[in-house]
Amino acid sequence: MTKKTRDMIQKLLSDARLSRRIKVENYLLVYLGLRPCSLTTMPAEFPDAESMGRDIDGRVLPKMKDLGSIVEPYRRLKMIENLKREMRKVYKEVVERSEQYRAHIEWARNLELRTFQFEVRPTVRELYLFKDKEVEKKLERLMKERIKIRQEVLRHPPPDLGRVHVVYPEEFNGAWIREMGALYGYPRCCVDRYVSDREKGMMVEERASRQLREAGEEDEAGSLAYFVGYFFPCHPRCPSAISTGRRFLEELRSINPELGDLYKSILQENLELVRRQPEIIAEHRLRAVEAVKKIYRQPPLDIHNR
Ligand SMILES: [Zn+2]
Repeated sequence: MTKKTRDMIQKLLSDARLSRRIKVENYLLVYLGLRPCSLTTMPAEFPDAESMGRDIDGRVLPKMKDLGSIVEPYRRLKMIENLKREMRKVYKEVVERSEQYRAHIEWARNLELRTFQFEVRPTVRELYLFKDKEVEKKLERLMKERIKIRQEVLRHPPPDLGRVHVVYPEEFNGAWIREMGALYGYPRCCVDRYVSDREKGMMVEERASRQLREAGEEDEAGSLAYFVGYFFPCHPRCPSAISTGRRFLEELRSINPELGDLYKSILQENLELVRRQPEIIAEHRLRAVEAVKKIYRQPPLDIHNR
């Protein structure tokens, strides 16, 4: 590794506009060729995510006030279209004009990473980072499929569908998940377990958290299986996941020991994140409901999902 590269990595690590987990997992690991692709949800994974979220809600929710009173389907549809346009405008103003957004794009450029953005909802985007042109082709195809899967569920909603299934129907499509898992560099056994849990209607987050609680005292491998955030190993002692984490740790440590230490603390945080997943999800739900209640003084409308 040249001095120039080392200096650039040092500069990235000292840039406070990106969270340290994102810098290491989503930028460095892809840059070093250790994973084919990473995903950053914007603005949810920005350091200022909370205040940006409040800002977005504050501008968007008042505009949604009248929606509840309109029942005529055509007028309602028109209004939802208008709202979506407004929400996209708010996203541009709050997120794309922020320093933190600019930092993400700047670092992709500095590290010569390709980018691909996908609108999950009008105020939420996904930023994919990768080096290989082939990954881009795959992403383009997979996102087209994702849109199709979503449209299909909206057109013919299967009965008794849970909320997650309606909002993220692609999460229940085994073939789609397997291809995405390969892009993120996840071990096959862990992706297979994820798919089979979803198919059985089991919450992956709850299963992973329970496994950790049951595993009790940590052994020597510790948190190595949690090599990136929001990845759920098939088991806390999955050999493939552990060896991936170990390889990443060794590579980063060989660049500089401090980077190794930093990654170790991120691994520990990732493990804690999985352990606390059920609570985190419950908190999120409660907060979303409360935020909307404040404006409406009634339960929220699911405008995002239409
Ligand atoms: Zn596994």
